[in-house]
Amino acid sequence: MNNPVGREIFETAKVIGGDVHAFSMLAYHSEKVCGDGWAIVGDAAGFIDPLYSPGLDFCSYTSYYVADLVARSLRGDDVAERLSHYNHQYPITYRYWFESLFRNKYYYMEDADLMSAALLLDVSSYYIGLVQAVYRDPEREFLNLPFMGVGGKVVRAIMSFYNRRFAAMANRRSTTGYVKRNAGWRELYDGFVPDRRLGRHISRGLSRWFKCELINLMLMLRKPRVAAGIVDPGSVPDVTASTGAGSSALS
Ligand SMILES: Cc1cc2nc3c(=O)[nH]c(=O)nc-3n(C[C@H](O)[C@H](O)[C@H](O)COP(=O)(O)OP(=O)(O)OC[C@H]3O[C@@H](n4cnc5c(N)ncnc54)[C@H](O)[C@@H]3O)c2cc1C
Repeated sequence: MNNPVGREIFETAKVIGGDVHAFSMLAYHSEKVCGDGWAIVGDAAGFIDPLYSPGLDFCSYTSYYVADLVARSLRGDDVAERLSHYNHQYPITYRYWFESLFRNKYYYMEDADLMSAALLLDVSSYYIGLVQAVYRDPEREFLNLPFMGVGGKVVRAIMSFYNRRFAAMANRRSTTGYVKRNAGWRELYDGFVPDRRLGRHISRGLSRWFKCELINLMLMLRKPRVAAGIVDPGSVPDVTASTGAGSSALS
């Protein structure tokens, strides 16, 4: 128990034999989320990750969109175009969300240096890209599924880029035997709120990223100790590759 937070939390914990269980392949998404007279929302439509905590945002966007759709349909409007948009955009939103935030995350989640930089950038981007707009006008913004249009593609490209860098650096750290500096780390924030304090979080995230890149440059001079890398960020299977009727598995 090197970490002070872990030590505090598990101070009185007792090990119970055989009490540890594991689940895999938790992620899924539906390729069709609505049709004539039906629509699915929240976890019924898809689930990404139990640890890095998305879910309720998906629930909010999809529930809002579908509630609006049902209200229009009950009013007698023609909702065919909105149904078609939901079926088209939902898998894109899911896929971009996964690619920009979750792909390869588990390779560096255990490295405080890399993960703290990524967390600051991830949460700040999330607040700037989505939360701020929802705070300003929830009625309108919850109807726009995240990552729509060209803006969505740009945000996804930026976030995927830095997350790929963190995964690649984790790979180099692992193959060169770099000893992680997780001990004694205590990360506290004064909260994430959609105001100018986000700028401070971003600059902290960027400066930590920069330091990680410097360490990475230094590690490039070391000979790899492990023959094969743990990560090939380019080789992760396409999340949209269907594994069965109506749903996809991540890996
Ligand atoms: C370990 C873990 C950690 C998470 N952490 C976070 C987090 O930090 N932040 C975040 O935003 N999200 C998080 N999530 C995701 C979030 O909890 C879910 O996305 C959210 O609860 C989904 O809501 P839902 O209403 O779609 O589905 P659910 O909450 O699953 O609700 C569905 C309900 O339907 C009921 N039901 C099922 N079948 C039937 C039936 N046949 N008849 C009647 N009722 C039925 C179920 O009992 C359930 O009550 C986490 C999820 C997990 C598993």
